[in-house]
Amino acid sequence: MNIQLTDEERMIQKTIRDFARKDLAAVADEANREGTFQDEIYASLAELGFMGITVPEKYGGVDFGTFSLVLTLEEISRVCASTAVAVSVHNSLANHIVLKYGSEEMKEKYLPRMASGEAIGVYALTEPDAGSDVSAIRMSAVKRGDEYILNGSKIFISTGDKAGVIIVIARTDPESKTKGMSAFLVEPDHPGFSVGKVEHKMGLKASSTVELVFEDCRVPAANLIGEEGMGMQIALGSLDGGRIGIASQALGIAQTALDEAVLFGRERKQFGKRLVDFQATRWKIADMATNIDAARLLTYRAARMRDEGLPCTKEASMAKLFTTRIANTAVYDSLQIHGGVGYTEEFKIERFFRDARVTEIYEGTSEIQRLVISKQVLKEYEQMYPA
Ligand SMILES: Cc1cc2nc3c(=O)[nH]c(=O)nc-3n(C[C@H](O)[C@H](O)[C@H](O)COP(=O)(O)OP(=O)(O)OC[C@H]3O[C@@H](n4cnc5c(N)ncnc54)[C@H](O)[C@@H]3O)c2cc1C
Repeated sequence: MNIQLTDEERMIQKTIRDFARKDLAAVADEANREGTFQDEIYASLAELGFMGITVPEKYGGVDFGTFSLVLTLEEISRVCASTAVAVSVHNSLANHIVLKYGSEEMKEKYLPRMASGEAIGVYALTEPDAGSDVSAIRMSAVKRGDEYILNGSKIFISTGDKAGVIIVIARTDPESKTKGMSAFLVEPDHPGFSVGKVEHKMGLKASSTVELVFEDCRVPAANLIGEEGMGMQIALGSLDGGRIGIASQALGIAQTALDEAVLFGRERKQFGKRLVDFQATRWKIADMATNIDAARLLTYRAARMRDEGLPCTKEASMAKLFTTRIANTAVYDSLQIHGGVGYTEEFKIERFFRDARVTEIYEGTSEIQRLVISKQVLKEYEQMYPA
């Protein structure tokens, strides 16, 4: 498998890197301090093609694939992890689900709006009693004539208050646990939809996280995605891409932690020496750099496999598990190298330290990634050495 970048991928990387370092960096600190979502940043990202990066040209996208999305999210996260959340969910979950499971009519109606950034796509799976246990969702969808009536609430939905398209997983058959779930495309102006509680989080301050409320919410029957009963398959199948997205986000955070550690450690002197001249600092730098390289290889491998249409559930989970862990150790060590000033808002590492934490929680906690990986590994052993 080739993990080297093609010329086209280098060009994409340069484009998004330039954008992130100039336009995004100009607003990131304030947006994260104020807790504001930067509409104009998403509009610019859409203009550059990054809101339809995996969408075919005939639906208004640029069709560059998962690997390019990884490069994009990595560069965005090096500057602002909050921005990367919306871009990741929009591309790797919402766009992907409509593209893979939607009817032709649905693709023609929604994908051009999503790729152009007019409609930001969000993904609503989590409920108060259904976090890691997706099969416990209660939200109901009952067919009445040519509509479905949705009742229930979704919590912790990233960018839910800015959504133009909401992918919702609901229960169409209360009798069947996993086969009784279905996916729907809901628009915020469908009657009965509203935004509920807004979460006040530790990090990712420029990314809103909200409750979505559905009270007799009327959704056209044509907005059922795929067929009734496919909800679990759609929800979990698309998470492979979502997890590669979060691995990329964590990779960007880890890279910035290392960058900041080295830049700071070269400037700061104690005991007549630069911090980078102490062996204790060098070991931290060596561990960070090695971990980041390994994480990048895992993430790039998973992305290449996905682009080649290969099953990559294990590889996506490995990339997420490892990269999100090393991102957290990297921000910890980088902040330690900064000393007291690293604990203040004056230095970038304080924000990245807070932003890294959630990467081990959303789109499947690290414990759930271990369940996924071990299930796949045991299956492989079953095939190699049948009992
Ligand atoms: C900032 C943020 C943004 C989010 N965005 C979205 C979004 O856009 N859309 C969406 O649908 N959801 C979103 N979520 C929800 C997120 O995906 C869930 O929080 C996550 O899946 C974990 O579920 P939970 O919080 O209910 O924890 P729980 O499932 O209650 O887990 C609590 C703890 O128990 C552990 N645990 C649970 N089951 C097991 C087990 N079988 N074995 C071992 N340990 C176990 C978990 O690993 C965890 O450590 C977001 C969450 C946050 C914090």
